[in-house]
This record gives sequence, C-alpha cells and structure tokens, in this order.
Amino acid sequence: GHSMRLLEVENLDVRYGQIQALKGVSLRVEEGEIVTLLGANGAGKTTLMRTISGLLRPRAGHVRFRGEDITRVGADRIVRLGISHAPEGRRVFPTLTVAENLMLGGYTRAPAEAAQSLKQVLLMFPRLEERSRQLAGTLSGGEQQMLAIGRALMAKPRLLLLDEPSLGLAPIIVRDIFRALRQIRQQGMTLLLVEQNARMALKLADRGYVLETGHIALQASARELLESPEVQATYLGRE
Ligand code: ATP
Repeated sequence: GHSMRLLEVENLDVRYGQIQALKGVSLRVEEGEIVTLLGANGAGKTTLMRTISGLLRPRAGHVRFRGEDITRVGADRIVRLGISHAPEGRRVFPTLTVAENLMLGGYTRAPAEAAQSLKQVLLMFPRLEERSRQLAGTLSGGEQQMLAIGRALMAKPRLLLLDEPSLGLAPIIVRDIFRALRQIRQQGMTLLLVEQNARMALKLADRGYVLETGHIALQASARELLESPEVQATYLGRE
C-alpha cells in the first residue's frame, strides 16, 4: 500500500512580536518514521513543536495531519486527533502521584483502554512502576522525564512529539531514555524528536532536519547526516 503522509508542515512562519522564529519551514513525517530535528539553541525547534501541537499560531503556512489542515485547530482537539507532545522541561504535576499523572495523560480515552496503556507504560518504565504511588515532585529529573514520556504515550498518539528528552540528565539515565525510545520505535510509533544529543538521536532516527536560525538548512537520511562533515563539525563534536 501507499504509505500515508502523517504530518506535513508547509512554509511555516512564526513570530514573537518583531522576532521571526520560523521562516518558511517545511517538513514531513511519514507513518512509522522517526524524524529528528537538530539545531543550536534558539534555532526554533521548540517553536516548531509548539506550533504543530496547536500552542502557537503561525502567521503563515500550514500544518496538515493525516490530510487534515490543523493549522488553526486548538491544542486539545489536536491531542484528540492523535498528536501528543512531551514538552521540554517535563512539566509533570508535582503534587499528584506518578499513577495520577499517567492517568491524566489518558483523559481522552475510555477507562479500560487507558488502563491497558497504563500497563504498557509501566512495563516500558519499570522505575515508574516502582514509584507509581509516589508524588511526581519527589522523582529525580530522569524519572520525571520518563513520566513525561509515559504521560504522552497514555493518549496512544499516532504521532509523538518529544522535545529534548535527555536534557540535563546523567549519561546512565540518558541511556535508559534512549532504550525506551528504541522500544517505542519497535512498536511502530511515529516520532518527531528534538534532541541536543545529536549523535544518539541520529542513530535512532530514519531521517533528520537541521534548523538554523528559523529555517531548514539541511535535510537527509539519518545516516547521511551522521556522515556529513558539516553536521559532524557543528553538531556531533567529539565522541
Ligand atoms: P532551545 O534549544 O534553546 O530551546 P530552540 O531551537 O527550541 O532553542 P526556540 O525556543 O524555538 O528555539 O526559539 C526560537 C527563537 O524565538 C529564539 O530567537 C528565541 O529567543 C525566540 N523566542 C522563543 N520564545 C519566545 C517568546 N516567548 N518570546 C519572544 N521570543 C521568543
């Protein structure tokens, strides 16, 4: 069969007052792909994620999801259409338990289905299972990140947007997070991943885009990007 264009971003312009954060950004994500978005601080990665999930309105351009124009659709409706966003900075509810945070992520679903997803998320993140009755505010940074990803998965999205899942975490925890991302990949989920750890992101991904000061400077297969001298010099650094 013909593979479905899951997400299509076309010529997006986004401004914050006088600052143009995105200029004519276009990208696509096919069903089942892992696509990573690389770029320096301030390149516009978070802005792009927030625009896709309906938290920011573009001045121009379009976002289409499964063929439907969602450019001006509200964030809550976008979740229901199948896009979940685990934002940068985690944002779990500190005074609720781990289990309660997860169940909130499943609010769009029937209780029996949410309970099924809860089991799957706890299998993926055994640390969350151990701490399911603990208040989220008492978790370590890495555990809160796992919770944020788990909460996004509770909506059973067709597309998962992950913004900097390994930011500020110790290498051993980063490894756990990437292990979970590989499981997500094996389950056939579609992922758009913003990650400062470009090498790990490109090893996981099928394709990637490089965002530079609000525009797409480069797009290629993940392997080509890993081997590109330009990308190596700017984003991969030393091993
Ligand atoms: P980082 O990795 O630092 O989060 P980023 O690639 O996600 O960077 P954005 O956060 O999308 O970049 O920011 C893109 C540009 O828009 C930057 O110049 C930033 O200063 C600006 N910007 C972001 N948010 C706002 C805001 N709320 N008001 C004004 N300018 C903003």
